[in-house]
Amino acid sequence: MANDPQGVDVSRRPLLSVDNVSLEYKTPERRVRATHEVSFDVFPADRFILLGPSGCGKSTLLKAVAAFIEPVGGTISLDGRQVTAPGPDRIVVFQEFDQLPPWKTVIQNVMFPLLASKSLGRGEARERALHYLDKVGLAGFANAYPHTLSGGMKQRVAIARALAMQPRILLMDEPFAALDALTRRKMQEELLALWDDVRFTLLFVTHGIEEALVVGNRILLLSPHPGQVRAELNAHAFSFNSQGSSAFQRASQRIHDLLFTTPSQQGEARIDPLRQRAA
Ligand code: ADP
Ligand code: MG
Repeated sequence: MANDPQGVDVSRRPLLSVDNVSLEYKTPERRVRATHEVSFDVFPADRFILLGPSGCGKSTLLKAVAAFIEPVGGTISLDGRQVTAPGPDRIVVFQEFDQLPPWKTVIQNVMFPLLASKSLGRGEARERALHYLDKVGLAGFANAYPHTLSGGMKQRVAIARALAMQPRILLMDEPFAALDALTRRKMQEELLALWDDVRFTLLFVTHGIEEALVVGNRILLLSPHPGQVRAELNAHAFSFNSQGSSAFQRASQRIHDLLFTTPSQQGEARIDPLRQRAA
């Protein structure tokens, strides 16, 4: 356990703090409130999930963490410093397969942000890129062009490109949602293996309850539009192997109830057996 000079256990200090954050879009006709006073903390090496129905503001929250949009209320800090502009410490992987420029080869795609941010020289960037391509099983495709790859392979390249930047936190917005079910499952499994290997900190958005339970160690449940925190759950008990188990089924059902019934209908259900707010 690492202590700083004041004797504080630094591993229990949040890496990312989202504090009372409200987010809005302004269109010519009206203002749309996407999230309302959302708070959560992400700790180093967490696999933190934002789970909620479509339109509840998950992507908007992720964009605010990346500082593509600015909160109308509340603050977002990384390592205790307020986030005000996009930076290489927060890298996003999106759902779309077209996030790789098609005129660059796989390795050129992975090297590009390393060179553009002037983090590394060409030789080192190449080495770093190959290292992470190897980690996602694509070292053999370094010179291929994106259009020759399957959807799953393109997402692996996008993940390698993000990890190669060695961000403080990796932001993923439904990265597997456009894949077929079998490939999605394989990608979830690979992501967990990669996390075991690299131990990055992950903030992962999904609307899939099972995906949240499998990928996450902590899950924030957001209510429908505008997104508000409904509960925070501990999910580290679940993995691929527990997917068919009755405990897994019960947890899925419980989350489903929390997401789709109003708090007044739930009564005591807010005190969740999965244990809210990990100690
Ligand atoms: P989610 O990712 O959870 O599906 P979003 O964050 O994409 O939800 O959207 C949250 C809300 O904000 C939705 O009501 C959506 O219609 C609205 N919204 C998203 N993007 C824009 C935009 N560019 N302009 C106006 N409203 C938007
Ligand atoms: Mg979204």
